[in-house]
Amino acid sequence: MIIEIDPNSGFCFGVVNAIEKAEETLSKDKTLYCIGDIVHNNIEVDRLKGQGLKTINHDEFEKLSDAKVLFRAHGEPPVSYQKAKENNIEIIDASCPVVLNLQKRIKKTYQEIKKCKGQILIYGKKGHAEVNGLVGQTDGKAIVIENVEDLKKIDFEKPVTLFSQTTKTISGFKEITEVLKQKCRNELKINDTICRKVSNRMPNIREFAKKHDVIIFVSGKKSSNGKLLFDVCKQENKQSYFVSHPNEVEMTWFSQAKSVGISGATSTPSWLMKQIADNIKLEIK
Ligand code: SF4
Repeated sequence: MIIEIDPNSGFCFGVVNAIEKAEETLSKDKTLYCIGDIVHNNIEVDRLKGQGLKTINHDEFEKLSDAKVLFRAHGEPPVSYQKAKENNIEIIDASCPVVLNLQKRIKKTYQEIKKCKGQILIYGKKGHAEVNGLVGQTDGKAIVIENVEDLKKIDFEKPVTLFSQTTKTISGFKEITEVLKQKCRNELKINDTICRKVSNRMPNIREFAKKHDVIIFVSGKKSSNGKLLFDVCKQENKQSYFVSHPNEVEMTWFSQAKSVGISGATSTPSWLMKQIADNIKLEIK
């Protein structure tokens, strides 16, 4: 039986970089704090917790002093950098370079657009860590748009510049831009800032799921990206199974299979998929 791990699965480079920075720091220090889960995968979070990584929320961060804190790939708003300075906190900045670049663009645009009373729109999820970091570049003035309904808040007589959270879907972004093109009566600037590392996974996983008799999809149960990608597997291949842990894999799934494909969400560590592949190889020998 052939077992293939999806070459397009695993963490994006932003998350890989954050984990490497955390491990590098923890090889010298006993404790490192991180605001929010470094990645949406409990097994990986627990592995790093074993090395001394402590997950805290923003309230806990505000009370912390004289410590090292990792800013994860999602990035942080300027206020977090300010707080760190005040409280003698050393920042291990693992903000993804793509997100940092987007923050800079939004900040620059805000400085320009406020002179003509224009509006900055961010297509994204309200309260999402990356979105909070982006809105922070505009003194909280950017308007977060989750769907077409939210466009009711916009004054179409004034200039509009649109950006996107990096992990949103291209189809959702297109829907928003179409409505804006119809309604805006002043200058409209559209910036597609969706990260292709994530959006390209959808067509890639569709092809991968077709290729194999059985698909094992590995993801944390809470990962929304995991649910989305698993649905695509299911549409293409009825013999697709969702697992979060190696011990959830049942060998009876492979009784008729000549090939098995193992894939995962953007928050699924490669080592976990490899462990599952190795277990299957051992069991079916
Ligand atoms: S911008 Fe892209 S590469 Fe960076 S963390 Fe987000 S998904 Fe990953």
